[in-house]
Amino acid sequence: MSKLVIVGTVAFDAIETPFGKTDKILGGAATFIGLSASQFNVDSAIVSVVGGDFPQEYLDLLSEKNIDISGIEIIKDGKTFFWSGRYHNDMNSRDTLATELNVLADFNPVVPQDYKDAEIVMLGNLHPIVQSSVLDQMTKKPKLAILDTMNFWMDSALEDLHNVIKRVDVITINDEEARQLTGEYSLVVAARKIHEMGPKYVVIKKGEHGALLFHNDSVFYAPALPLEEVFDPTGAGDTFAGGFAGYLAKTGDVSFENMKNAVIYGSTLASFCVEKFGTERMENLPKKEVHQRLQQFKDLTQFDIELT
Ligand code: AMP
Repeated sequence: MSKLVIVGTVAFDAIETPFGKTDKILGGAATFIGLSASQFNVDSAIVSVVGGDFPQEYLDLLSEKNIDISGIEIIKDGKTFFWSGRYHNDMNSRDTLATELNVLADFNPVVPQDYKDAEIVMLGNLHPIVQSSVLDQMTKKPKLAILDTMNFWMDSALEDLHNVIKRVDVITINDEEARQLTGEYSLVVAARKIHEMGPKYVVIKKGEHGALLFHNDSVFYAPALPLEEVFDPTGAGDTFAGGFAGYLAKTGDVSFENMKNAVIYGSTLASFCVEKFGTERMENLPKKEVHQRLQQFKDLTQFDIELT
């Protein structure tokens, strides 16, 4: 089993969907990644920052999942990162209503000593300079560095983002962001352009239309499980990334073939995340339910055809 270090926001979110609205609830890229990866019982640590306003019970929740939180700095007189978004009726698109960086604005991440040799590094969504700094602190080159990002950082820190993209093996990004990053509408062409920026593996997440994994001239596609109801898509992308990274950490195999299974695990876990507001569904998700859904996934995609 490999060690997994996760960097990303630990946050307050306020979400509006056609089904309802929340006050400030637990959110953040690293939170969703950590909860998702905890399905694999891997040794994981989150590197992040919160303010004195962040409830202890949220930190306890992460600890209870066996996530090392010694790398989550608490700035007593600071405010936690806050994000607010409103989903459109199709639930695939959303408007960001607020992004308040607060303590994230001048965050210097510190990777816990025990995790400086982690084999898998998951650079979740936050400032690309913070993502780079985590890579700088690793005492040996990780077996796999995975990066996730979003349009906010393309708009505000594009050069820094390019600098960290160069250094990673895998990028996970959604379709709209892949188009923004490359200026290409075709996702195949966009993936090729992202390959040229550095990552050997490019995962493009397409929300309810699944995910594509590109490696050189090979492509693998995993659909999203058709769900009767999507309640709140927040964190689905991070949950996908956490499942992907967690599975690779658990198996220790970072081949393209094994990454296909990691994509399936990521999609399966993301399908749970969207069923309730925020992290609620992921906080107590029995393995048995995950396995049942993996079986559904198999049934959905398997066919036996004779070439005539
Ligand atoms: P996702 O729905 O997978 O894109 O992730 C949503 C999560 O990302 C929310 O919990 C937010 O707290 C977090 N988030 C939103 N904007 C940013 C940002 N600019 N940087 C880092 N995390 C963010």
